[in-house]
Amino acid sequence: MILELKFILILASVLLVLGLILSYLSTLADKKEDSAEKRIEMLLPGINCGQCGFPGCNAYAKALADKKAAPNLCRPAGAEVAKQLGVLVGDTNATYGDYEEQLFSPRMVAYIHENSCTGCGKCKRKCPVDAIAGVLKDAHMVDPDLCIGCDDCINTCPENCIEKIRLDHDLSHFNWNIHSVQIKSGS
Ligand code: SF4
Ligand code: SF4
Ligand code: SF4
Repeated sequence: MILELKFILILASVLLVLGLILSYLSTLADKKEDSAEKRIEMLLPGINCGQCGFPGCNAYAKALADKKAAPNLCRPAGAEVAKQLGVLVGDTNATYGDYEEQLFSPRMVAYIHENSCTGCGKCKRKCPVDAIAGVLKDAHMVDPDLCIGCDDCINTCPENCIEKIRLDHDLSHFNWNIHSVQIKSGS
């Protein structure tokens, strides 16, 4: 009888210790996941716009930490942050090249190299939107806000002194037609 009691006590102790160890390991795993998610979330912009396809930065961070999403889905964060996210989650195969192209429509406008311009005025007469200013025999200039990039002036200029340049990105040519936002579960 005493022997049986001893056996039961030993078994109970072993089970208790095992339970404690498992519970500790599970807490450790939770903490590890939490910290990965937190580190990811700290890199995200926090504007909860949903363009990544998840209902907010937190949901995307969780999906990334769980390896259920690619690291290049947050367009507002930009390519550099996306690369850092890729390193964090061990996925460096994603592509990052077209971030700005998707957010901003490229704006190419005409630019006149004043030093070569003879001021003949042919470009000014040809421009359909009156984007070129200048007086005869003086260097002409293009107003980039008006230019629609039609190339007519370039094809007309006898001095070959007009080229197309790309404008810096700004909100005036933000691509409002960016693909529609699809909300899906972050879990
Ligand atoms: S795209 Fe997603 S992760 Fe990026 S800011 Fe918007 S909601 Fe947050
Ligand atoms: S590209 Fe077209 S719109 Fe722009 S300045 Fe030249 S002619 Fe005008
Ligand atoms: S056509 Fe060429 S050379 Fe003539 S005014 Fe325009 S830019 Fe200058």
